[in-house]
Amino acid sequence: SPTVGVLALQGDVREHVRALTDVGAFVRPVRRPAELDDVDALVIPGGESTTISKLAETFELLEPIRKRIGDGMPTYGSCAGMIMLASEVLDGRPDQQSFAGIDMSVRRNAFGRQIDSFEAPVEIDGISGPAFHAVFIRAPWVERVGEGVRVLGRVTDGTAAGRIVAVRQGNLMATSFHPELTGDLRVHALFVDLVRAAA
Ligand code: GLN
Repeated sequence: SPTVGVLALQGDVREHVRALTDVGAFVRPVRRPAELDDVDALVIPGGESTTISKLAETFELLEPIRKRIGDGMPTYGSCAGMIMLASEVLDGRPDQQSFAGIDMSVRRNAFGRQIDSFEAPVEIDGISGPAFHAVFIRAPWVERVGEGVRVLGRVTDGTAAGRIVAVRQGNLMATSFHPELTGDLRVHALFVDLVRAAA
């Protein structure tokens, strides 16, 4: 089985560790550059992207992670993790950094105050069975994708209908929502399949 790191600076690290373990991956928390060398892939959890950005700089992980991503390391980000994977962050803090990787513009807190948090069924390309029960918490959406980016899922109903909430570019995957919070392991299974295929 592949070894999947979970970036353990801030956010729902434990939930991702559990989900990845449940789909059969070896999992290691990553807090230091040396720990990054020991993993085949990385998950960037949900949480607060401005905090993750700041801590990634402090722990000297920003450049090493950018480099690994550039070298093709499979990486998946949920919510704040999606923001960290975006080449452009809209409504970010001025000093906010990202690992980039996915050619897309992501808007932070895009769904607005009225619907701070909500749940909705989302059909995900590559996942069969019932629609994924997606949990959104102060979530971003994707406003622009580059040519190399495949849209995997969109919101279907309400004022945000049509908004992109799941994408893939090469070995990189991101969702606006939090599959780690629902017990539905299909997104994590999809990612670990991608990691195995990339090995
Ligand atoms: N709003 C948060 C951010 O900008 C993301 C929220 C989340 O990860 N649940 O990073």
